[in-house]
Amino acid sequence: MSETNKLEKLVSLCKRRGFVYPGSEIYGGLTGTWDYGPLGVELLRNIKNAWWHDNVTTRDDVVGLDSAILMNRTVWQASGHEGAFTDPLVDCKTCQSRFRADQIAESACPRKPSKAPGQFSECQLTEARKFNLMFKTFVGPVEESAAMVYLRPETAQGMFVNFKNVCDSTRVKLPFGIAQIGKAFRNEITPKQFIFRSREFELMEIEYFCKPQTSQEYYREWRDRRFAWYQKLGLAGENLRLREHEKEELAHYSVGTSDIEYKFPWGWGELEGIAHRGDYDLQQHIKFSGKDLSYFDDETKERFVPHVIEPAAGATRATLAFLCEAYAEEQVEGEMRTVLRFKPRLAPVKAAIFPLVKKDGMPERAAAICQDLQKHWPVFYDEKGAVGRRYRRQDEAGTPFCITIDGQTAEDQTVTVRERDSMLQQRIGVDHVKGFLLERLSD
Ligand code: ATP
Repeated sequence: MSETNKLEKLVSLCKRRGFVYPGSEIYGGLTGTWDYGPLGVELLRNIKNAWWHDNVTTRDDVVGLDSAILMNRTVWQASGHEGAFTDPLVDCKTCQSRFRADQIAESACPRKPSKAPGQFSECQLTEARKFNLMFKTFVGPVEESAAMVYLRPETAQGMFVNFKNVCDSTRVKLPFGIAQIGKAFRNEITPKQFIFRSREFELMEIEYFCKPQTSQEYYREWRDRRFAWYQKLGLAGENLRLREHEKEELAHYSVGTSDIEYKFPWGWGELEGIAHRGDYDLQQHIKFSGKDLSYFDDETKERFVPHVIEPAAGATRATLAFLCEAYAEEQVEGEMRTVLRFKPRLAPVKAAIFPLVKKDGMPERAAAICQDLQKHWPVFYDEKGAVGRRYRRQDEAGTPFCITIDGQTAEDQTVTVRERDSMLQQRIGVDHVKGFLLERLSD
């Protein structure tokens, strides 16, 4: 299976099995938007829940936040986004297409045979101009410039503008972090590679505030911890790497930035950036708001503006990485089987329950087991078709366990549990099913 082929197959499986659909499809779609179907919404939520659990719930030094998507326009002037959140845009006067000037070589002119923009004699590319990626809208009934606001292109500013609120309303002490998961919007010039680069997507971000003299240590700690998180959830091996930015790549205020990158079917792409942002953001908000956002240290009696480490991850981009990593095809008894090998923690459905046949009390027994398990996990009941077919459908959905109720169940109160990856089957007691799953699903 070639790598381009793999992406095509994955996109098709995502549509067919209800992971991801093109946005507004019955109206011809809307470029750069995607809808998460019944399986996709569970996968995406499992990723977000794993992140929240591991970075907020189980830590004493990180608190959560859910700030508004619409913010006062001055926030984006202070953060620098209004002036500088731009990509270089090039137009073609002949075909009216638009391209990112820094991605011309990887872009395709709409003419055939496929070539890069500028390679046909008819191409008339303009000089590159700066294009701001923030979407605009208006608050209130009048569409005038005073009412103009932006859809946030990141969640980070919500954490900075609430820094004082969090300090005043909780007992946090440095070092501490504020974490947020939420939608972000960027008017990407060329959304592409499925959900990798879309115009509406989800972010999982932490702003970790610390004393300036400890910031290097926390930068390294977060960088390594975030890398280990992806490994733990299954992106191990040669498809994951950490790339430290060169000095010339760094933003003027940044002391250090690392990207966690995944090897997607088309090549390496950023999953998460971990940036040492110094005190830039808080200082900018102090300047623009006129409010005191400094921190007073009770022990040393010092007042200062904390430094910030920012791990910023894409939840929807991570969803694509986990899908790519999980996708496998293999020959089983002369037939091709497609399987999504998610870690059980991320799998959308944890177990499928099958009555072997639709008679002899098997559906009733299976439904009772299903109802019991449903109290704890998303499980799926299926009684249609040959059991082999049902296994294959669950393999494609990434369901780690299938539980079959057969004739023997009525006799000795046992069921068959079939494991997705090894396809091995074992009989266990009905009473043990819950304990069996509990033990294996935390991985
Ligand atoms: P890129 O260089 O890929 O445009 P970026 O460096 O602008 O990304 P950041 O501003 O650091 O990205 O955003 C943090 C994370 O948000 C990225 O690591 C990525 O996972 C995710 N992300 C950014 N832009 C998009 C997008 N258009 N669609 C989906 N996820 C995105």
